[in-house]
Amino acid sequence: MVYYALEFTAEIDGLTNLQPRGGCDDPTYTYYFKLRCENCGEITQKSTCVSLSEEVPLPNGRGTTNLVQKCKLCSRDGTIQMVPGQGKPLTDSQGQSGQYTRLMIFDCRGFEPISGETTFEMDLSEGDFADYDEKSECPVGISNLKAAFKVVKKTGDGARAVYR
Ligand SMILES: [Zn+2]
Repeated sequence: MVYYALEFTAEIDGLTNLQPRGGCDDPTYTYYFKLRCENCGEITQKSTCVSLSEEVPLPNGRGTTNLVQKCKLCSRDGTIQMVPGQGKPLTDSQGQSGQYTRLMIFDCRGFEPISGETTFEMDLSEGDFADYDEKSECPVGISNLKAAFKVVKKTGDGARAVYR
């Protein structure tokens, strides 16, 4: 298993915290990205979508995970389990200095997620990814959104688990 942290940054104007509408652990916020098979190297044609609210049974019948997908080329099963509780909203000072913040951890088995401007999609048009500044009612702007996956190691267990 490999843990991938999805990190992002953006230039934000008129808001102090940027995160999915329901927070970093928003159960209905859907992530889209392509996957590379660790066995044969095949890259999926279409983006895969995962969200915390989508759970499917594991192929071995022991518990559930957020995604089970079979590689089209070599037919190997791969799974993705999301690890909530690790994300932090992007602050305006982080955005200004180009620092990344962590959004979500993905425990990937059999697949490697691929990010990039063309393969990672965030739908900003419906305001799903905005935390509006309600007090000042300022118009907000989001530009230069960048996201990247970083391999992280897990230390500790349960509530004390740390990923870095
Ligand atoms: Zn494969």
